[in-house]
Amino acid sequence: MSPKRPVVGLLGGGQLGRMLCESGAPIDAQIAVLDAENCPAKQVNNNRHHVTGSFKDAAKIRELAANCDVLTVEIEHIETEVLEEIDANGVQVCNADGTTSIKKVAIHPSWKTLRLVQNKYEQKEYLRRQGIPIAEQMAIESGDAMLASMEEASEKFGFPWMLKARKDSYDGRGNFKVSGSADLHRAVKEFGHFSCYAEKWVTSELELAVMVIRTEDDGGRMKRVVPYPVVETVHEDNICSKVFMPPRNVPETVCKQAQKVATSVVEKLWGRGVFAVEMFLTAEGDIIFNECAPRPHNSGHASIESVPYMSQFKAQLTAILDEPLPEVLEPHVASSIMINILGGANPDSHLPLVEKAKSMYGNRTAVYVHLYGKESKPSRKIGHITLTGFGSISELEEFAQPLLEATDAIRQ
Ligand code: ATP
Ligand code: MG
Ligand code: MG
Repeated sequence: MSPKRPVVGLLGGGQLGRMLCESGAPIDAQIAVLDAENCPAKQVNNNRHHVTGSFKDAAKIRELAANCDVLTVEIEHIETEVLEEIDANGVQVCNADGTTSIKKVAIHPSWKTLRLVQNKYEQKEYLRRQGIPIAEQMAIESGDAMLASMEEASEKFGFPWMLKARKDSYDGRGNFKVSGSADLHRAVKEFGHFSCYAEKWVTSELELAVMVIRTEDDGGRMKRVVPYPVVETVHEDNICSKVFMPPRNVPETVCKQAQKVATSVVEKLWGRGVFAVEMFLTAEGDIIFNECAPRPHNSGHASIESVPYMSQFKAQLTAILDEPLPEVLEPHVASSIMINILGGANPDSHLPLVEKAKSMYGNRTAVYVHLYGKESKPSRKIGHITLTGFGSISELEEFAQPLLEATDAIRQ
């Protein structure tokens, strides 16, 4: 056993970082966070290695790296130039005797993965070339040529189609549904300053997601990919609102196929950690890859309770520290539902939902409330609720009904 406890540096300290710190506490992992002073992750993890600042600031990233043995992320929108530089050259550290030296710091997932997935168009082009099924896409010109380029997309795909910002999008904030020619001028106005692409509209039965753990050796050769059970994700207004395990009314063969697509996506990326793979399931039963996030993900939150010995957060730490992983990830429950708590019109709009969840105790079911220590704002993810059960997903959904209704009430 190594006498030294490695320090994990985390770029970003939102709710994902907070849950990473929570899962790291029982295994005595030291996690140093780069983010604002009172960010959600630092609220639950007092640590002398933390750095105050922005994960977009190269100097701060170097400062964090100097405190750590391995760097990881809770968000993919990170400046990768500095990560590449640290990976190649290490970082300068000040020694106790006043001298300086260069320290190697591992970066997981690899900056190559982060750089690729940051651009959703390039991410899908790369994976398409590797044989992954994707929705047809087309580059959209910017500036004066944007309108003509979008007219070409309308002709190619028919209406509706999806205009997407290539970079920096999350919770659907970089998506614009083009339903007819009348939308094109508004699209130029709202998206003209982004670099964009067009995507064929996918008429999906439902959306699926699979978290995958990936490990590799110190030479960058892949060792293992281990998928979690597939989940069904429900999006409302482009934001994930609920997650069901197992997916409702989806045959086992399709679930297996989704795990297969997800593992092949992750095999084609680089670095250690957990990776979320989002997919569409069409009426014909085809699986189409949507996007990959190389980090813990909203679709994996229920793993905290459903796979308690290896939640997605513990898996992130286990993978990047190259510690032993299980062969398969068997849930300890038969079904789970995760409900996002999104901020409503008023700062306390979500409180009836939280109070209801706290009051619910069922037979062979459990309800877990997670609040993130964030100020409530409309549509902001401020917490989630996980329900687990030993019966079918439809029984659990019935039990969850009062919470699903209270969630809808926040949106009204
Ligand atoms: P995330 O928060 O997951 O990173 P994002 O902003 O990157 O989201 P996408 O995953 O591209 O956005 O899209 C968000 C949602 O919008 C999808 O989960 C899906 O419900 C819908 N959507 C995206 N692309 C399409 C498409 N081509 N056809 C139909 N619906 C789509
Ligand atoms: Mg995304
Ligand atoms: Mg998405």
